[in-house]
This record gives sequence, C-alpha cells and structure tokens, in this order.
Amino acid sequence: MTKTALVLGAGGFIGSHIVKRLKREGMTVTAVDLKRCEFSKSPADRFVLGDLREQSLVRSVIDRRFDEVYQLAADMGGAGYIFTGENDADIMHNSAMINLNVLDACREHGVGRIFYSSSACMYPEHNQLDPDNPNCAEDSAYPANPDSEYGWEKLFSERLFLAYARNYGMTCRVARYHNIFGPEGTWTGGKEKAPAALCRKVAETPNGGTIEVWGDGLQTRSFLHVDECVEGTLRLLRSDFAGPVNIGSTEMISINALAEMIIGISGKNISVRNIAGQQGVRGRNSDNTLIRQRLGWAPSKPLRTGMAETYDWISRMQERADRVATLV
Ligand code: NAD
Repeated sequence: MTKTALVLGAGGFIGSHIVKRLKREGMTVTAVDLKRCEFSKSPADRFVLGDLREQSLVRSVIDRRFDEVYQLAADMGGAGYIFTGENDADIMHNSAMINLNVLDACREHGVGRIFYSSSACMYPEHNQLDPDNPNCAEDSAYPANPDSEYGWEKLFSERLFLAYARNYGMTCRVARYHNIFGPEGTWTGGKEKAPAALCRKVAETPNGGTIEVWGDGLQTRSFLHVDECVEGTLRLLRSDFAGPVNIGSTEMISINALAEMIIGISGKNISVRNIAGQQGVRGRNSDNTLIRQRLGWAPSKPLRTGMAETYDWISRMQERADRVATLV
C-alpha cells in the first residue's frame, strides 16, 4: 500500500521542498498551510488551506493515521521579524498553539512518525558571543538562554514533542535547523533571512553601487542548502534516533564575507556599507558530531554552490518583479 504523509506548513519554504521530495518517493501527501506555495504549484495530492491554530481544523485534517507527519508550520521570519520585539506575543502564541493542536490530534489517531523542526535559535546566547568559536553542540542547550522569544518557543515545543513521545509512546523526531536557504524561499517583504536578503540587494543594485549590511558584518553564521535540509530531515524521521539534533552546515562565514561571496557570484562591482540593524548573536555554527554519530551522515555541499543557485533564482525573481512594476 502507498505510504501516506502529512506536511504542515507545506506552503512555506522548507515544507514545499519536503512535499516535492515525498511525491518523488511515491508517497500520498496531504499538505496544510494558511497559504499556497508562492513560487510553484504544490504536487501534494490534497492541499488544505487552513489555520492550524484552530483545533477543529487540525482535527478535521488529522482524522486518520498517517505514516509520516512533518510539522513545519510556525510563525517565523528573519532578524527583521523575530528581534524587533513587536512580534513576540504572536510568535509564541501562534507556534505553541499549532504544536499543541497537532500533537493532541496525532496522539488520538496513532500517527506513525512525527517530525518537528526546532531551530538553532534555541541555543543560549552566552555560548554565541565569540564569532570565531560559537558552541552549538546539542548538549550546550542548558542552562537555557535563547536571545529571542522565537528561540524560547522552539525550546518549549521541542520538549513538548519529546514529552508526548515519552508519556504516550509516540515516535517523535526533533531537529534543530541552522539557517536554511535556497531557491523558492522568502526573498522580499520583511520575513526574508540574510542569504536571500543579500542576494536580493545585490540583484537590485547596479554595477558600481553599494549594498547595506546590518551590523558590523563580522557576526558569523553557517547556512544549509534546502536540499540537504530535506535529506537530513527524512533520514532523521526514519531513523531510531529521537534527537534533538542539529541539521546544519559547519561552513561558518561572516555576514560581510557572505555578501562578498554573493557579489562575486553576480560578477558586479558592488561595495558593502555596514549600517545599524538587527543582527542576533555574534557567532553561530552547526556542530555535526552528533548527527554524524547517530545517522552516519552530515551535510557536505559547499556554500558557494548553493549560493550561486540561489542568487540565480532571486535575480530572476527580481527581474520579473521589475518587469511587472514597469507595466503597472
Ligand atoms: P516558512 O515561513 O516559509 O514556512 C512556515 C509555514 O507555516 C508558512 O508557509 C506559514 O504560512 C505556515 N503557517 C504559519 N502559521 C500557520 C497556521 N496558523 N496555520 C497553517 N500554516 C501556518 O518557514 P520555513 O523556512 O519553511 O521554516 C519551516 C520550519 O523550520 C519552521 O518551523 C521554522 O521555525 C523552522 N526553521 C527554519 C529555519 C530556516 O532557516 N528557514 C531555521 C530554523 C528553523
């Protein structure tokens, strides 16, 4: 019999890539989101437009056993969304509500395996002050001190999934994603993250121009291409390891160096100006010791290869937006 999957948050960036992968594997996929995929038609067998904060909607979708459930729906965005403080209550309320509803419905219907996407934003701020030596090993999570309410909600929810697993015999798997990027991600509008924002700025800036980078640009991060994120997610869900485990790249780079990499890819002569802006912790990098030990796998794609593909996609989106603007 064909295996069944439910992808929550399937209209979003990572969820839409997971749906495509599951369909390629031949699964029957039900998708749920507040919105449809922005950039391509979802190949899901059934796409439910609905609000997962509503218990009745969640119960109407999870009314039977699915072999695999991927819970990616969350109220989230880049630094310009999660660090201003203005969205804190919404972020915590909306995402926690979704997770509570989903777990309860899954418990009732004996779902096979459930994946939950936590985030590196749950790691304590005090281990990420040195841009050259951040500590994001899984066991560094406590004593907890995330630098955003988004991170606190992720910490609560990863514990929630693992508590349901312990108390109700459910099979839950928890990953801590580290800055996922790639084609068909949010690239404009205020919720985009650094790689997409920098690609857009470079794409819209003419040769000889300047782009603005938030902060001093010396803050470091690592970025994982969405294809490897999907690969790691499926491997974890189907493994015997519950996590939490990092799914991220260990290729750490400063934000200024990332901007220079994208400028190099574009072939343009553009300079960088650092301005005041939201920047989060000083350093963050994935530690892949645990994932390598437990799954015998870790991401390996070079950052530049993924950035070139992403820049190409965003510059085409930008050209299309410019064409539309001239027609209006
Ligand atoms: P995204 O914002 O593109 O996707 C999330 C989706 O959830 C959106 O399409 C949104 O409409 C949907 N959603 C939000 N509230 C909903 C609701 N009430 N009902 C139904 N749908 C709702 O984000 P993404 O980058 O694809 O991230 C997916 C998951 O991975 C999120 O849980 C996010 O916190 C986590 N994560 C992502 C990253 C990253 O770098 N992208 C890093 C760490 C963790």
